[in-house]
Amino acid sequence: MTNQEVMDLAEKSLIHTYNRFPIALDHGDEVYLYDVEGKKYLDFAAGIAVMALGYNVPEYNQALKDQIDKLIHVSNLYYTEPMAKAAANLAKASGLKRVFFTNSGTEAIEGAIKVARKYAWLKDNGATDHEIIAMNHSFHGRSLGSLSVTGSAHYQEAFKPLIDKIVFADFNDLDDVASKVTDKTCAILFETIQGEGGIYPASKEFVQGIRKLCDEKDILMILDEVQCGMGRSGKMFAYQYYDVLPDVMCSAKALGCGVPIGAFVVGEKAENALTAGDHGSTYGGNPLATAAANAVFDLYEKKHVLDNVNEVGAYLYQKLEEVEQQFPCVCDHRGMGLMQGLEFTVPVGPIVAGCIKNGCLLISAGSNVIRFVPPLVIGKEHVDQMIQVLKGVLETM
Ligand SMILES: *Cc1c(COP(=O)(O)O)cnc(C)c1O
Repeated sequence: MTNQEVMDLAEKSLIHTYNRFPIALDHGDEVYLYDVEGKKYLDFAAGIAVMALGYNVPEYNQALKDQIDKLIHVSNLYYTEPMAKAAANLAKASGLKRVFFTNSGTEAIEGAIKVARKYAWLKDNGATDHEIIAMNHSFHGRSLGSLSVTGSAHYQEAFKPLIDKIVFADFNDLDDVASKVTDKTCAILFETIQGEGGIYPASKEFVQGIRKLCDEKDILMILDEVQCGMGRSGKMFAYQYYDVLPDVMCSAKALGCGVPIGAFVVGEKAENALTAGDHGSTYGGNPLATAAANAVFDLYEKKHVLDNVNEVGAYLYQKLEEVEQQFPCVCDHRGMGLMQGLEFTVPVGPIVAGCIKNGCLLISAGSNVIRFVPPLVIGKEHVDQMIQVLKGVLETM
């Protein structure tokens, strides 16, 4: 099929919830993707920060093939070795205690909300009027619970009523968060690095201040590491830069490097909040998904992925600084590791479209920010290629 034929077929039968770019991708290799007509693209989007290991990785593919031949699914009525190992891997990597596997990021957030409510319900003798503080311009997913804590009126508008007792505060404004804490606050939730909101890392003062506030008032600190976690920041989880541990952490995206899997992970304080019957998922943690996560943990070590993020992330940072200096339409550059953003004074849609046309996949974060979230195995030569395409497009604007 041609790109156009795939597009026509898709648009006949899919609900139109996405304005997709006009290409149909067919296969991938390393950090490149190919469309159905054979055109090659350098990938700086990684399936939205998912494909950390890149494409067509032999050891990863083999681990999945082996697991498919053995066992794909059995439900959570039984134990499996891949699930047990994945939980141990994630607990160790996060420094937290216990894991619940989900199928997506939004479900990880749902679980974290349930942990917070149950923790407070136990503590307050069955009271059910607890509040959660979340951040303006945050993004936590599209199901109704996670949409309720997503600080964007635009996403929420048509779907009200959402879940009750969510209070929004300004990200990186500790005084604002503190002023919104009440006796009923059971959790403070935020992304360690805001992704969809425009690539804003939390400040050290903010993270440590919230940790202190939560300790003083017995509130759960919930960190959403769905996008910034699994090595993207240069540490396995971005909170590891701040000398804190959250009480609950949500992961997904790169956790399976392409196979749908997410998780919420609880620390000591909330490790017994959920008990048998409180939560469940038919697919959650199935052998195929957890075999993928185990392969990811193995390959991160074997390929020294974190070292690469730090080295190539620093190089990308320097190159994007140069772009900012060269082009007056760029007004800010921020980020950590291989999660960086360039903010423009103009909408970035045409710039992104131009880069795709010229063989480089980029994505935006909001209307004015280009987001750079490539595979974590990318090399400096790929950064150079991307910068060349980007500059070429900016010169024609
Ligand atoms: C992508 C994302 C989610 C939602 O994950 P899904 O797998 O799309 O449900 C939640 N939080 C953050 C920070 C994300 O980037």
